[in-house]
Amino acid sequence: EFLANMSHEIRTPMNGVIGMAELALDTNLDREQREYIETVRNSAHFLLELINDILDFSKIEAGKMDLDLISFSLRDSISEAIKTLNFRAVEKGLELACRIHPGTPDTLVGDPGRVRQVLTNLVGNGLKFTEEGEVIVNVESAAEEGPDVVLHFSVRDTGIGIPLAQQERIFESFSQADGSTTRKYGGTGLGLAICVQLVELMNGRIWVESVEGEGSTFHFTARFGIQPEGHVHREAVDVDSLHDTAVLVVDDNATNRQILAEMVKSWGMLPTVVEDARRALGILWSADEPFGLVLMDGMMPGMDGFDLAAQIRQNDEWAETRLIMLTSGGRRGDAERCRQLGIGAYLTKPVSSPDLLDTILSVMDRAGEADEADLVTRHSVREKRHELHVLLAEDNVVNQRLATRLLEKQGHTVVVASNGREALELAAAEVFDIVLMDVQMEGMDGLEATAQIRIRERETGDHLPIIAMTAHALKGDRERCLEAGMDAYVPKPVDAAKLFEAIDDLVPAPDEDPDGPAVLPAPGAMAAAAGAVPTTAPERIDREAMAACVGGDEELFKELVELFVSDYPGHLKRIRAAVADGDAPALERAAHTLKGAVGNFAAKVPTQTALDLEQMGRRGELDGALERCAQLEEQIGNLCVDLQSV
Ligand code: ADP
Repeated sequence: EFLANMSHEIRTPMNGVIGMAELALDTNLDREQREYIETVRNSAHFLLELINDILDFSKIEAGKMDLDLISFSLRDSISEAIKTLNFRAVEKGLELACRIHPGTPDTLVGDPGRVRQVLTNLVGNGLKFTEEGEVIVNVESAAEEGPDVVLHFSVRDTGIGIPLAQQERIFESFSQADGSTTRKYGGTGLGLAICVQLVELMNGRIWVESVEGEGSTFHFTARFGIQPEGHVHREAVDVDSLHDTAVLVVDDNATNRQILAEMVKSWGMLPTVVEDARRALGILWSADEPFGLVLMDGMMPGMDGFDLAAQIRQNDEWAETRLIMLTSGGRRGDAERCRQLGIGAYLTKPVSSPDLLDTILSVMDRAGEADEADLVTRHSVREKRHELHVLLAEDNVVNQRLATRLLEKQGHTVVVASNGREALELAAAEVFDIVLMDVQMEGMDGLEATAQIRIRERETGDHLPIIAMTAHALKGDRERCLEAGMDAYVPKPVDAAKLFEAIDDLVPAPDEDPDGPAVLPAPGAMAAAAGAVPTTAPERIDREAMAACVGGDEELFKELVELFVSDYPGHLKRIRAAVADGDAPALERAAHTLKGAVGNFAAKVPTQTALDLEQMGRRGELDGALERCAQLEEQIGNLCVDLQSV
């Protein structure tokens, strides 16, 4: 009964996610947006499948599980599964690659959902238990038996490995290699047990080979039917034009080299593989005829892919050689550099064979001159518009919403952290263009988070611009922020224009860009926009300041009022409780937060009262705090009335 209920509860929101993604896909989207939403849809489908399968687990055990028998493309199925896991690999700096042996039939009859479930599980584990190195999926046919084929899948990682004594046990339900696993890595110990059952249903078996400290390889086999036309690869028609084209593959990762070489070979191209840029140049020099294509990894030790491309482009003899860059993260600036260097396309790893083929075909097809505008990439659009990826560290929901909306309206994307520690984690996992950092937050504050980020950067030599946002009205605050390593300082309540000015100072927009960042309204325009807040507003609130705060956006203003109205009683309650308990630090914090929220509405009186309470808390003198508390409550009551009337 619990499972049935849970199933229903989870399906309802999942249907929302999938349904809305489908609807969005029916609208006009650019390439980048389409790719993102397709990933949302595919991930949601996977999640739903996963949930279904967990719910089915009891069915399997009761021997009542049936498998689907439908026809599917092995390559598409696997590449989709791997794409949705790639972000985790990128986050951890791991290589994730997939090699499907060229002779493997593609159109199979079986249950693609179950295959993906097992693979997702094994690859997910591989990524989870590996800190450095790679996770490689390998697929080949083990035997053809009449109308069926038995495929052998393996997932190899270079992670922590599994002690021999544990290798049997991990396949049992709810069991993990050792007791500390849950604490360190999470997980339920259910994943492999489900895999065992599913693989058995597919008439296969699953096993592991592992050396502690070196890594693990999980193997499984499964039997499928072959569709007669499955032997004809759907790409066969297009590839004729690629036959006998010489390709130079440059990648420092051996597995990737092998995979890329095999892919291009399967289209009749002639690969030469090298492990670094210097050797690549050597080969290019000594070749009798220029190579048709160079496929290169962007990030390589020593000379990287970009430098290599620059060298190649300096030599006129190689002007006809097409260049394709493979990157794992997609860093800001990559697209621009590719364009400048005359690189025809850039792809995010792991590259699936159909994607690579499409890209090669379109790049090879192109006329001799490298057309700058034609670079195919999902990042070019963002770069052109000077759209930034912003990390916002802020613990107050109203302020989170405000800043997020303001930034999003400028075309930026925003990731929110609710405290310093979260900000630190996010900054380590993702590439951001800039950080907006609240100074006072529960747990780790903005100063400490900044200091930590700066310490990390000593190793990498990077510098992430950080703007402090603080409601402290104290002298010396600016100095403390700069001392902690912040680059700029914006007082709260945040004035939209000032915030954007600070951002533009730190991350200037490329000026040659004709459709550059959406420009802030000029002061005059801003005043006009202030009309969005009707003039009947009572005098207790400062309309102009308020309009400036929301950049003249009426919708946003309404949203903020709603948030504030639902949010402030909690803050007041905490203030009262802190006063009642004589807990000065708690009073300081709660009053500070409320002050920030009230400050957004430029309401001077309650802001001052909240500040008084905050300072009482800081000094540890709570005499008269109760009275101030009552005043604050009344003042906020008035403010709410005013806001509602506005
Ligand atoms: P979970 O990962 O949810 O704990 P699993 O059944 O998938 O459950 O895995 C069981 C245990 O097997 C894990 O907790 C871990 O101890 C071990 N294990 C699985 N895969 C790997 C791997 N690739 N490397 C090292 N240990 C692994």
